[in-house]
Amino acid sequence: MKIVFATNNQNKVKEVQSLVPKNITVLSLKDINCEDDIPETQPTIEGNAIQKAQYVKEHYGYDCFADDTGLEVHALSGEPGVFSARYAGPRRNADDNMNKLLNNLQNKEDRSAQFKTVVALILNGEQHTFTGICEGTIIKEKRGDKGFGYDPIFMADGFSETFAQISLEEKNRVGHRGKAVQKLIGFLNTKA
Ligand code: IMP
Repeated sequence: MKIVFATNNQNKVKEVQSLVPKNITVLSLKDINCEDDIPETQPTIEGNAIQKAQYVKEHYGYDCFADDTGLEVHALSGEPGVFSARYAGPRRNADDNMNKLLNNLQNKEDRSAQFKTVVALILNGEQHTFTGICEGTIIKEKRGDKGFGYDPIFMADGFSETFAQISLEEKNRVGHRGKAVQKLIGFLNTKA
């Protein structure tokens, strides 16, 4: 079975590929010669995931899945949420985003947060969504150099190291994207 994963982020392709069973061939946007700037203009994480998957189906004809993720910080009423990538501005710079978040959390006692991933799948004309949540804490300074995005300041519940300090396998096991993708894979296995 061939399915397009509608993302340009090689980190995510790497993460998802390590989770997908061998009988499913995941094509990247590059594999289908898609260099479009796929719109993500919806006000919710779920809406953006669906919008991206629908775009690929509509313009390229492939069954596909797309994910969208946000970091929801409780003391900031769910911010940065759907704005996670461009929290500190259109440069989409991870360090700037983390600095802004750490700044906004100064003097806040509650540093709890969750990563939320929604995977939207369009398969045989039907739409499905799968959600993965990972709860944790925003620590006070960056730690580690693995991963990407907010990983250096996010510590999942039950861990004493950040997502930027643990292995990719461990992050996949407990992480938001891994959980959403595991649900996707469970579903795909019933169809394969
Ligand atoms: P996207 O929807 O997956 O592109 O994620 C939006 C933004 O959320 C990214 O630009 C990152 O800032 C952040 N993000 C998504 N996934 C992760 C992750 O696994 N770790 C840390 N930050 C992430």
